[in-house]
Amino acid sequence: MNNLINFPHRTLRIDTTGLPLEWIDFKEAAKLYSVGDVVYTLGDNLYSIRGGINAKSGLRSQININSIVATRGRSKHFQQKLSDFTPPLNNQTLFKRDDHLCLYCGSQYSKRELTRDHVTPISRGGQDMWQNVVSACKRCNNIKGGKTPEEASMALLAIPFAPSYAEYILLQGRNILADQMSFLLSHIPKSSPIIERMHSKEASPLISKN
Ligand SMILES: [Zn+2]
Repeated sequence: MNNLINFPHRTLRIDTTGLPLEWIDFKEAAKLYSVGDVVYTLGDNLYSIRGGINAKSGLRSQININSIVATRGRSKHFQQKLSDFTPPLNNQTLFKRDDHLCLYCGSQYSKRELTRDHVTPISRGGQDMWQNVVSACKRCNNIKGGKTPEEASMALLAIPFAPSYAEYILLQGRNILADQMSFLLSHIPKSSPIIERMHSKEASPLISKN
């Protein structure tokens, strides 16, 4: 059975205070339900999974998995840590942050055509961190070379930034459902560049049509 075809959507796991935590697949979600860790659910029913037959009743159990589940098991300490959270830097999330645009020429590219550009080059003391990296097409990256944007006369189209935890979860999502999206958006300021970019389009490719 191909899980991606039969179960294309993931469940958004949140804590009991409503803080988004992570995306989990239907198996992980079913386990949380079966061990009684789901405190409450939000959103629509995603999948109904058939479980084992109850020895007493003879009935087959069924688990209805929602698009958003709140689970116990995260401490206040964890929430405090989240406010200082810096997501791991990788190209896939970086390109999503920049909406697959080259931040120099402004054209949109596939991830294979994009590179990670260090705004202040490493050779000039720039760091490999969110605030100093942007998506750039190979051509622009070549032209810029070991120069700063000022030296290369190449203006940046947006200021690079480190995504917050909720923005990071949004960027990690694929086939995000409308109820999950509206939940995540309630945790992200409207001034977020990611949100502004989403609103500037008619339909976001992040949101699934189902
Ligand atoms: Zn470019």
